[in-house]
Amino acid sequence: MSEKQSLGTICIQGGWQPGNGGPRQLPIYQSTTFKYTTSEQMGRLFDLEESGYFYTRLANPTNDAVADKICRLEGGVGAMLTSSGQAATFYSILNICQAGDHIVSSSTIYGGTSNLFTVTFPKMGVECTLVNPDAGEEELAKAFRPNTKVVFGEVIANPALTVLDIEKFARLAHSHGVPLIVDNTFATPINCRPFEWGADIVIHSTTKYIDGHAATVGGCIVDSGNFDWEAQHRKFTGLTEPDESYHGIVYTERFGKMAYIMKATAQLMRDLGSIQSPQNAFLINLGLETLHLRVPGTARMLSKQPGICSPEDVEWIHYPGLPGDRYYDLARKYMPSGVCGVISFGLKGGRMAAAKFMDKLKMCSIETHVADSRTAVLHPASHTHRQLTDEQLVEAGVDPSMIRFSVGIEDVEDIIEDIRQALE
Ligand SMILES: *Cc1c(COP(=O)(O)O)cnc(C)c1O
Repeated sequence: MSEKQSLGTICIQGGWQPGNGGPRQLPIYQSTTFKYTTSEQMGRLFDLEESGYFYTRLANPTNDAVADKICRLEGGVGAMLTSSGQAATFYSILNICQAGDHIVSSSTIYGGTSNLFTVTFPKMGVECTLVNPDAGEEELAKAFRPNTKVVFGEVIANPALTVLDIEKFARLAHSHGVPLIVDNTFATPINCRPFEWGADIVIHSTTKYIDGHAATVGGCIVDSGNFDWEAQHRKFTGLTEPDESYHGIVYTERFGKMAYIMKATAQLMRDLGSIQSPQNAFLINLGLETLHLRVPGTARMLSKQPGICSPEDVEWIHYPGLPGDRYYDLARKYMPSGVCGVISFGLKGGRMAAAKFMDKLKMCSIETHVADSRTAVLHPASHTHRQLTDEQLVEAGVDPSMIRFSVGIEDVEDIIEDIRQALE
């Protein structure tokens, strides 16, 4: 199949390729295991000397087809599904970090990621320095240490809606000999392709727009194949020196550009689990089939409706697709065809007004979820970011009055009407 297909075509046609007489829709290989005729062949599979399926924790054809579709959408060389977005973030870092290492991350990141980096990773001996993503390069460079192994950021931060200057972060990471990992959950590959701007690894919570129907929790790691691990041999010995758990294979020698993603699959998934289930992968694929239709819809609607809320009620509004927003220029650069369907605002009257407004909504529902076909609303300070102090909230870009409003694909008029009656 042509590599030059457009994103919309890949959403529909990518991944599963049926043979003559084969099933048109992606089959669910609901099997833990796969059968072989000779013991020797199975042995070669275990040694990674031959490719093939033998146990679903390591690889499954349904999961592989979906990972391959996401990989093509991002323009990478290899991808792996995980059971959740959190597992994808965790593995993406752990694949190149161990006790004694350090990571530099933008401070405006998802609440779960922030907990992982600042509470759980330190318990495992990996330290994290959070940086203001809008700081200058000289200032940001001060965060690096000799043991820094990776830089992390979110293309559009959930829920702060800051836009990462991907080129700036890539330059910074590369000048320190480390890769840039970005979370592309909110923009999706339909609106932003981070590899084209220098990111090395992309991760997703497929739970959000990619699934799009609030049906499955899932994640994905995509490898661009662009980072030269060998050039930093001593920094990334997990990839460049023999892996004793595979009779001493060296991932960079054996797999070249696929070294990172092969290690994540063959070693981390083998040892830690957290696989996606083939059933869920099937549902994720159904979501992917309409991703190119759903994502521009919500983004366009928001850009055309700057007056959804009237200035009398609203203290502030953040949406990078809106002229005048602090991140408008970065959004235009990295996401020229649209941003995402999530908007945030603060009502006059702060926290109290936020709770009152949300309780009055009739159609738009209060839920933890975001980036769904249904319009969903949340108050981060009382919900997802409840554990953070007011100081930490500010650092994470979350105003205590913030309402996160995730626009679905219902009729625009009905959404606006619901907002209007709740404000009244
Ligand atoms: C939801 C989310 C995650 C975590 O994903 P789960 O699938 O809930 O584990 C990570 N990053 C971003 C930007 C998210 O919105």
